[in-house]
Amino acid sequence: MGEMDNEKSYWLKAYGSYEPDPPLEGEVQTDVAVIGGGFTGLSAAHNLLLDEPSMRVLVLESKEVGYGASGRNGGFSMTLFGLEPAVTKMLFGQQRTVEAHRYMEQAVDYVQELVEKYSIDSDYEHTGFLRVGTTPGYVKRIQHDMELLTEMGITGLEWWEADRVREQVDSPMFLGAWWEPRCGLLDPAKHVRELKRIAKEAGALVYEDTPVLEIKREERFNLSTPHGKVLADRIIFATNAWSHLIPQLRRKQIPVFTHMVVTEPLSEAQLAPIGWQNRQGIEDARNLVHYFRLTVDNRLAMGGRDVSIAFGGDMERDLNERTFDLLEKDVMQIFPSLKDVRFVDRWGGPVSVPVDMAPAIGFVGDRRAVYSLGCVGHGVSMAQFNGRTLADLILEKDTDLTRVWFVGRRTVPWPPEPFRFVVSQAIRGYLRVEDAIYERKLPRG
Ligand SMILES: Cc1cc2nc3c(=O)[nH]c(=O)nc-3n(C[C@H](O)[C@H](O)[C@H](O)COP(=O)(O)OP(=O)(O)OC[C@H]3O[C@@H](n4cnc5c(N)ncnc54)[C@H](O)[C@@H]3O)c2cc1C
Repeated sequence: MGEMDNEKSYWLKAYGSYEPDPPLEGEVQTDVAVIGGGFTGLSAAHNLLLDEPSMRVLVLESKEVGYGASGRNGGFSMTLFGLEPAVTKMLFGQQRTVEAHRYMEQAVDYVQELVEKYSIDSDYEHTGFLRVGTTPGYVKRIQHDMELLTEMGITGLEWWEADRVREQVDSPMFLGAWWEPRCGLLDPAKHVRELKRIAKEAGALVYEDTPVLEIKREERFNLSTPHGKVLADRIIFATNAWSHLIPQLRRKQIPVFTHMVVTEPLSEAQLAPIGWQNRQGIEDARNLVHYFRLTVDNRLAMGGRDVSIAFGGDMERDLNERTFDLLEKDVMQIFPSLKDVRFVDRWGGPVSVPVDMAPAIGFVGDRRAVYSLGCVGHGVSMAQFNGRTLADLILEKDTDLTRVWFVGRRTVPWPPEPFRFVVSQAIRGYLRVEDAIYERKLPRG
């Protein structure tokens, strides 16, 4: 693949030279074809082969492994499911919120164990996670979420008052935080390509630069690609925010673009006033969150603030100069010692958003085709763990994972364009106004 695709994130650029696997040519027969080479697809392939080493499993990726959200994200391995616990409880009830949280705990542990077991070289750091309140309103929101989870018997979360937070990471804006030691941080581009390594070591074939152009359901699935075709008994859709481009999944989700900026490595003088010795990943409590972290070489990477919505099939809304500029200002506001810091890169990527903002896994037609999508902005751990669940579904196992409520759940369809764009802009507008109320100011622009 050309340089253009490496340009899609700082992580992909910093990865350096990458040797993609060659595209598919000719006709190939397989037991399972996985469409999409991100965390979900590669993990599904790996898990299938762990259980059934002789199975023929191949992964088809339209660009290169990590081109999607998996090579562009913040790298937070975290337990948040969907948007936030209060929303999940409102839409799906208490029991399902608990079940979702337990699943996410397993997902985060799964990532950590995977890194250890396969010596995955993705700069994984077990830093823990802080969800910080930056206004009194947000402090109340976080405390409310924590109370909800604690009442439901969830442990592993601690409330930190401002002093305690600021001893760890000092910003005049931090008024308190949810502290969750279970979580970690990783370099997403390195990680997703390590998932390719372990999937291949287990026996998977990976074809890059191989977009699936058409899927015909005949006696077997017949998948056409530019230079070849695949005949598969079963298929897995691991196409995440691209899924609306696939007729079978058209109305299940839309892509929503989130953006990131990264600084030069911080000097000791820049870092000293902040502290951050324990390098926790941090997110605030806005609907349109800010998320920020240190990279392994002490750059500050920060994302969020606003989202961009695409019309129709446009998947190139990843650059938004206005959001990048505002994000850079936000960095300086949160950490005044960084007022002269230099930013060296900016990028964005799509997250997959169902109407009700909750992930969904399910069958398409009969049990021979499965999909997984809709992790919103919280899919680093979940997408990988969903790979295990997808493997269980394909192998027709009845496990705790296949019985979880968001497997086979009814999804609410997005309306067709132009209504889809109007509805999604209205939801974005609502989320922004609610943030402005929490911040007692009107949104810019
Ligand atoms: C900027 C950003 C920051 C984020 N930060 C975080 C974070 O810190 N923590 C967190 O938990 N989550 C975060 N997320 C979300 C997380 O990255 C995703 O939920 C996760 O990576 C989804 O993985 P996936 O494998 O399902 O999808 P993807 O990685 O998007 O993979 C889908 C793949 O399918 C391929 N594809 C699509 N159509 C076809 C086709 N027809 N044929 C072949 N291949 C096809 C695409 O090229 C793509 O590579 C962030 C997302 C973004 C964009």
